Amino acid sequence: MASAGTDGPPVDALRAALPEGAVLTDPASTEAYRHDWTRLPDAGFPLAVVRASSADHVRTAVGWAAAHRVPVVPRGAGTSLAGGATAIDGCLVLSTERMTGIEVDPATRTAVVGPGALTSAVKDAAAPHGLWYPPDPGSFRISTIGGNVATNAGGICCVKYGVTTDYVLGMDVVLADGRLVTLGGRTVKDVAGLPLLKLFVGSEGTLGVITRVVLRLVPLPAPAGTLVAYFDCTRDAARAVVAMGARARPSMLELLDAAAVGAVEDFRPMGLDRDAGALLVAQSDAPGTARSEEIAVMAECCEQAGARSVIATDDPVEGDLFLEARRAAGPAISARGSVLAEDICVPVDRLPAAMERIEAIAREHGTEIPLVAHAGDGNLHPAIVWPPGDEEGRRRAEESFAAILQVALDCGGTITGEHGVGRTKRSALPDQLGDDVMELGRRVRGALDPLGILNPGVLW
Ligand SMILES: Cc1cc2nc3c(=O)[nH]c(=O)nc-3n(C[C@H](O)[C@H](O)[C@H](O)COP(=O)(O)OP(=O)(O)OC[C@H]3O[C@@H](n4cnc5c(N)ncnc54)[C@H](O)[C@@H]3O)c2cc1C
Repeated sequence: MASAGTDGPPVDALRAALPEGAVLTDPASTEAYRHDWTRLPDAGFPLAVVRASSADHVRTAVGWAAAHRVPVVPRGAGTSLAGGATAIDGCLVLSTERMTGIEVDPATRTAVVGPGALTSAVKDAAAPHGLWYPPDPGSFRISTIGGNVATNAGGICCVKYGVTTDYVLGMDVVLADGRLVTLGGRTVKDVAGLPLLKLFVGSEGTLGVITRVVLRLVPLPAPAGTLVAYFDCTRDAARAVVAMGARARPSMLELLDAAAVGAVEDFRPMGLDRDAGALLVAQSDAPGTARSEEIAVMAECCEQAGARSVIATDDPVEGDLFLEARRAAGPAISARGSVLAEDICVPVDRLPAAMERIEAIAREHGTEIPLVAHAGDGNLHPAIVWPPGDEEGRRRAEESFAAILQVALDCGGTITGEHGVGRTKRSALPDQLGDDVMELGRRVRGALDPLGILNPGVLW
């Protein structure tokens, strides 16, 4: 790969081909594009950053990079928790954050969206039409649709409404040689050719740069009723989740363990019960009387699993407060020190076993591991915390991280449910996929990007 220097790639030619201000090279400006939220200590120094405003700018940038063998790191808002948007030395960071257009078409219940549009902006644009874009990563106010599609982002409502890919009908992608292709379109049904569209969803910037997305919208759901249950231990809470899976269809089913509740209370006191071993927050948005019936069934599941208290409310403001408590968990845990954010996913019936193993890992390695979970999906976010600058603490955190990935595999789950493999989990990917599937992936990636310029080091 090329690197900066007098004989390096002709950045001036790239600058001349793009509008003024689109290409950044001075370190003071490019610094903001080196890291994502993962804050990897070995983030590289980009040769340049391109802030594209159109698909043509993306084509120009990728074409230039291909001609000069410059690695390209596609980037949205940089909220990756897997190091997927972390710069490498001598790369071109290709940011699509300026491509923010949103056009809602109520007749087809679709939105045509630029990759730089914030997830929350799409929701806001759909709402006046009585429409809704369901995927809601905890970062929905700060992450982009391009990043969401590239990671197949999940979130809180996936337990009922699925993940990003379930709402992607079409996209434009700039391939590694600078060509632009259109995949899918505005119809819900489309079986023409190989299903290549879905290959790009979750490809983490390794197969192409997304420049336009067609999203499916659905009618706004009924206002949700909320159920809050405290338990003596995470095992009881997990048993309640398993029971609910068989009897109800919650629109949200989130879990915080005692350490996560404590972190939230330290960060932003909300009156949560910090003496409890675990907190479940569930919602039902079933229409009419079905909502209170579903809440009653969920309350019964909690009581039968040994909940120490169960509270239900139809008041949306009160419900939102508990939702905000869940959303505050990420920043609250981050405020406790340096953090390795985990994202394993297990079949829901293995939740109790997985949580017990994670608690044992925390004890064995002497690490602090507050746990939040999209519990209804079996998607666990143990966050391994250590004091900043404590090298021994970092070492133990890394050991815990690897041990938790093994828990996912032992439970028949996956090393990443929604954040992606990025740079942080690539060494564990072969353990999950095996040699044949890894080889298949390499052949697909090699066919689409023979020069290997797109996000090298991500996935493998
Ligand atoms: C507080 C917080 C809470 C979070 N909660 C969740 C959650 O609940 N669920 C969840 O799934 N994630 C969550 N995340 C992780 C993160 O927000 C998601 O992975 C999100 O989808 C990344 O979007 P982004 O715009 O920041 O993309 P970036 O971080 O910039 O990039 C992410 C990946 O997408 C690629 N990419 C970005 N744009 C493009 C493009 N236009 N074309 C091709 N590839 C591209 C990048 O190369 C990289 O591999 C959370 C993060 C934070 C900080």
